[in-house]
Amino acid sequence: MTGQTRLARAGLADISEKLESGSRLSLEDGIRLFECPDTLALGWLANRERERRHGDRTYYNHNIRLEATNVCVANCLFCSFARLMPGDIDAYTLSLEQALQKLRVRAHEPITEVHVVNGLHPDLPFSYYTELLSGLKAIKPGIHLKCFTAVEIAYFADLYRMTDE
Ligand code: SF4
Repeated sequence: MTGQTRLARAGLADISEKLESGSRLSLEDGIRLFECPDTLALGWLANRERERRHGDRTYYNHNIRLEATNVCVANCLFCSFARLMPGDIDAYTLSLEQALQKLRVRAHEPITEVHVVNGLHPDLPFSYYTELLSGLKAIKPGIHLKCFTAVEIAYFADLYRMTDE
């Protein structure tokens, strides 16, 4: 099946034409794309647009991943990372100094981002996270911080009695 046929079957031919003509997509177009179940059609369309704009060039960032704790009160079936309680075998929680050291030892590298993902730890104070983020910035002020999954944010809000914001 050609890409165009797939787009037509997915009901995206008009959006494809808009992109071909260089027109800006509307909010409604975005919602239709978001709700489209045909991921192959979406992928084909997205890649065509990417190649139209950027040719063969592809961009990457240079990041490190920081998992400050694997203690997690959730128990997602697919997860092999989490340990349920602080005392469990293999459970760990880095001290702030240990966590910051992960960046410090690589600060000379052209790293542009720190990606922080953790388990849902029941006992850490909120200041652990704020001091972690400000400490990372202090080590490398220009660094981009990509931190916390949506479930972590929701958990913080519950645990520390805050809004999601
Ligand atoms: S919330 Fe995250 S870390 Fe915790 S069990 Fe689920 S996937 Fe694993």
